Amino acid sequence: MFQKISNKSIKIKFFSKIFFIQKNIDELDFSLLKEYDQKHFLIPNQTHSKNIFFSNKPGLIDDCDGVFTSNPRVVCVIKVADCMPIFFAHQSRPFYGVVHAGWKGLTKGILKGTPTFFTENKLQLNEIDIYIGPSIQKCCFEVSKDIIDKFPSWSIRPKRTGKFMVNLQKIAFEDLRSIGFEKKRIKINSDCSFCKKNNYYSYRRDGGKTGRMVGIITSEV
Ligand SMILES: [Zn+2]
Repeated sequence: MFQKISNKSIKIKFFSKIFFIQKNIDELDFSLLKEYDQKHFLIPNQTHSKNIFFSNKPGLIDDCDGVFTSNPRVVCVIKVADCMPIFFAHQSRPFYGVVHAGWKGLTKGILKGTPTFFTENKLQLNEIDIYIGPSIQKCCFEVSKDIIDKFPSWSIRPKRTGKFMVNLQKIAFEDLRSIGFEKKRIKINSDCSFCKKNNYYSYRRDGGKTGRMVGIITSEV
């Protein structure tokens, strides 16, 4: 899947179903990403935190779930299987990044940290394009009563079974909008990773033993 996010040169590539179950699923198989030079990769190690890191140098960043850069040579990389990959890019300048947002990161407030990178660089939030990639949607994201308080009431639909369905994409959208990003610049891919078995891995569907999809955002410069 390929997505051109900004007016200029910034592009996203979402590799669905290219990583297979391995001994250590956290090891990226770089051979599958050979069109990119891995020495330019900027990768968060992803701990379901709310921590975001800004860097113009590539590397693996500890205890972190989002990476941003203004170095057009840097390739920001994220791994997901149900969680939302949320890509950000300035509409004309090479300022971009990606966040890993599952329900934990989302309810901890990871998105609230995303404007800092742009505002510190004197960029307007209404000039940022955002793309929420394929992830588990309201048809399949079910939670039990013990954690339901973590989600806004408008995002929840109760089921007869006593469980609840939660719309994570809507929560992300509302968070981004309330922070100051522009509604019309936020695009959501409606593919559900759980439903579309032939297209995506799903951590929940596959009982935790599954591969990962990989999202990349970089500049064509
Ligand atoms: Zn679904």
